[in-house]
Amino acid sequence: MLGNLKDQPADKILALMASYREDPRAEKIDLGVGVYKDAQGNTPIMRAVKEAEARLLKSETTKSYVALAGDPAYAKALSELILGDALAADRMAAVATPGGTGAFRQGVDLVRMANPDATFHVSAPTWPNHLSILKTVGQPFVEYRYFDNATGEVDFDGMMEDLGKVASGDVVLVHGCCHNPTGANLTEAQWEAVADLIGERGAIAFVDLAYQGFGDGLEEDATGTRILARKLPEMLIGASCSKNFGIYRERTGLLMGLCDPAHVKTVQGNMNHLNRQNFSFPPDHGARIVTTILNDAELTADWKAELEEMRTGMLALREQLAAELRRLTNSDRFDFIARHRGMFSRLGLSPEQVEAIRKDFAVYIVGDSRINVAGLNEETVPKLAQAIAATYE
Ligand code: PMP
Repeated sequence: MLGNLKDQPADKILALMASYREDPRAEKIDLGVGVYKDAQGNTPIMRAVKEAEARLLKSETTKSYVALAGDPAYAKALSELILGDALAADRMAAVATPGGTGAFRQGVDLVRMANPDATFHVSAPTWPNHLSILKTVGQPFVEYRYFDNATGEVDFDGMMEDLGKVASGDVVLVHGCCHNPTGANLTEAQWEAVADLIGERGAIAFVDLAYQGFGDGLEEDATGTRILARKLPEMLIGASCSKNFGIYRERTGLLMGLCDPAHVKTVQGNMNHLNRQNFSFPPDHGARIVTTILNDAELTADWKAELEEMRTGMLALREQLAAELRRLTNSDRFDFIARHRGMFSRLGLSPEQVEAIRKDFAVYIVGDSRINVAGLNEETVPKLAQAIAATYE
């Protein structure tokens, strides 16, 4: 029976990682996989995470099951961080999930239970795993225009035109901040307009928030999510702590559903049920680290300071790369790199250019020309700029 299985298409980013590992050139640069790296190329454990783990090691007395929804203290702490004063606790149901991927998957399953015909409207482009999860579950989806490859900016008119066709009961998937893979994001005024349009269409918003604190700051990066939460009667939020707490392998996510208070109990029950069906109890260690940090003023301050260092470090690399490219190409065509936010930027290069950069300069970029800015450092930025400029000669 198992012999009936067909090979799955290779994950492009994982395949790129493998060819990077096999490349013998010492000067090779990996800008592929979406993991934060410091100037030395390491993905460090954050100080506050280490301290929280040390405290847990001393204080934890049991590893028994927690609850299907996870620890309520975790949902409370993380939802406050995300929604701030846009949070109305009596409107919210939430379950801990294995990472942001788990939050998205559980959210899609929940939509499917509520309305199997709901079409997901996803940005073109979006994180490829959104599409493969929707395909796996069998939920219909269509793309809305989002990124203008020529300018490196959001095609806002195209986006609004496409979202104007959304049907009542459909789901509009948006990236809360730091859009992956493009790095191009909405302004506050644009978020307001998108929220109004989703409301007018009678659709619900599904926010994927995987990089809070990597763009303009913790509060600023939640702006879009909070505008939607204030304006829309119903929405889903899938949050990930993988990047902003640096706890990738702990699988720490949260699915939140905002709705009429009269429906909260049933929504919560359905979320718990889905957790039970798919994996039963969600992972707890990462959630406990996050809760320990967020419920301790000193640890929170230290975590925020370290996150801010990571954020501003990535911004400085963006500025440096944009400046180098301005100098080398004698044009401002790559200035968008400095305006983009988060870990990624889509450069708008052709697959041939991406391939030439890999072959001739040992710089590994995903085929759609997405770079991981955190894969750079002050020394490698000029090398990347040179490689990009060379493909235009
Ligand atoms: N959404 C987006 C847009 C992402 O980029 C990622 C991470 N690559 C995730 C969700 C999920 O991350 P994780 O499951 O590791 O928390």
